[in-house]
Amino acid sequence: MQPSPARHHSPLLSAVVPFLNEAANLPPLISCLELQLGELGLAWELVLVDDGSTDSSLAVARRELERRPGLRATVLSLSRNFGKEAALTAGLEASRGEVVVPLDADLQDPPELIGPMLEQWRQGFDVVYAVRRQRAGESRTKRLTAFSFYRLMGRLSSTSIPPDTGDFRLMDRCVVEALLQLPERSRFMKGLFAWVGFRQTAITYNREPRHGGRSTWNYWKLWNFALDGITSFSRVPLQVLSGGGVVIALLALLYGAWMVLRTLLFGIDLPGYASLITAVLFLGGLQLIGLGVLGEYLGRVFEEVKGRPLYLVRERWQQGPALEGPR
Ligand code: UDP
Ligand code: MG
Repeated sequence: MQPSPARHHSPLLSAVVPFLNEAANLPPLISCLELQLGELGLAWELVLVDDGSTDSSLAVARRELERRPGLRATVLSLSRNFGKEAALTAGLEASRGEVVVPLDADLQDPPELIGPMLEQWRQGFDVVYAVRRQRAGESRTKRLTAFSFYRLMGRLSSTSIPPDTGDFRLMDRCVVEALLQLPERSRFMKGLFAWVGFRQTAITYNREPRHGGRSTWNYWKLWNFALDGITSFSRVPLQVLSGGGVVIALLALLYGAWMVLRTLLFGIDLPGYASLITAVLFLGGLQLIGLGVLGEYLGRVFEEVKGRPLYLVRERWQQGPALEGPR
């Protein structure tokens, strides 16, 4: 896609970092950001969102910021763990920069890439997302499930979500505003990022293992995350259901006709317990699967209509040079 006209000025950059129990990673992350962004000579702000950490992360964040009174920073502490997607939304809402970069707290999203991303932004791109070339330190199963998920999503959804892309990206203000306008509660960010469009381009990088601590993701969370993604961005499972129903009904009709014909020609005989019970169980199973799929969508409708806020903020503070304008 053709980029918009080149941008020549130096924008204010917001680094948005949602974190959950990352006490060991916050100090190196902040130093690293300071170093990299300092080298780029940018004005920047740090937006930290504490997603209900139960360790000393918040105290560590406070200490790190107090040591750097000149650093422009906003800290939001959510009232409990709302999940990364909600925490990231909170961070985007609090950000003020003309360009915004969400990063993981575990240094898996290397701040060194911000320079090359900014280069692309200057060329006129509105979104520069980072595509992982390698995933070191992740198990074969995790890589395989991630791979299959991206391919499956690609098949099922009309919004094309770039594979092997996380939340790490540089976005122009116009894209952030567009994202924040989307009202949905189930925020499958990868999908929303793709849905909003704008002029997007990719850069690739090698993903390193997390710096310290442990990933809080497990397979149950990943499964739900995948279901969220599929049900928010595709109606194909519902279409498969009705399609399957039609096919099975047609087959049953043909079989019925054949039975009538056979009875007329050869009279009645009564074998067939095995085929009968197989058909009953098979259809019963299909119906339950169908109800389950419907339930997945209905449950999400339920979440949406309740219209609860995405997150609640328990505490919020700011430091550093003030910016003009509301927020
Ligand atoms: N995170 C969060 N809330 C959660 C789970 C994770 O804010 O409920 C943060 C976490 O602290 C990290 C980022 O989201 O900064 C990515 O999490 P993680 O490294 O566990 O995920 P992975 O890299 O394994 O996908
Ligand atoms: Mg990580």
